Amino acid sequence: MKKDLDDPKAVMATNMAGTERVFRAIHPDRWNPQVVIASSSEVYGFNTKQSFSETDDVVFRSGGQLRWCYAVTKLADEFLAFAYVRNYSMNIVVARLFNTIGPNQTGEFGMVVPTLIKQAVAGMPLTVYGDGNQTRSFCDVRDTVIALSLLASSPAAKGEIVNVGNNQEISITNLAQLILKQAKSN
Ligand code: UDP
Repeated sequence: MKKDLDDPKAVMATNMAGTERVFRAIHPDRWNPQVVIASSSEVYGFNTKQSFSETDDVVFRSGGQLRWCYAVTKLADEFLAFAYVRNYSMNIVVARLFNTIGPNQTGEFGMVVPTLIKQAVAGMPLTVYGDGNQTRSFCDVRDTVIALSLLASSPAAKGEIVNVGNNQEISITNLAQLILKQAKSN
């Protein structure tokens, strides 16, 4: 699998053209299932708030930075979803997914939890970037699945944006220490 930035046009085609095709295919003239759009915390862009509510500003800068192509296409998906909700009363809910972790997650794309676990289990040094004081909130994928399932089955969710994640923060240094302890590694 390629990383997003290796092929930005593929990212954009998948996120926008792919999603639009799905919406067209389920146009309510034919059937009207509940649809959950997997958006991302990335849509908050440069907004530096410590925690986000669904109505907080999304902040991007001009200048053609492809780093944000994933985020802006996820945002485009959200707008596309709301256009279909308004015009066709389709049952769509947008879930903005925050850091999600869980069994079998690959460290291939540099995600910190599987990367540090792999290092700890192998008895290698753990790569904590910067001063390690940066914090993240990790949500267990099994909780994420429950949230998505509830959203998919809740009529009240129609046309809503919902942040999906965990609100308990941990610093990357503390995470590394926790992983060393759990892996019984030095
Ligand atoms: N990180 C780290 N060592 C690693 C990989 C990541 O210290 O081997 C840090 C990274 O600098 C960031 C945090 O862990 O501050 C989370 O990184 P990740 O890429 O998993 O997620 P994101 O930054 O997208 O939330």
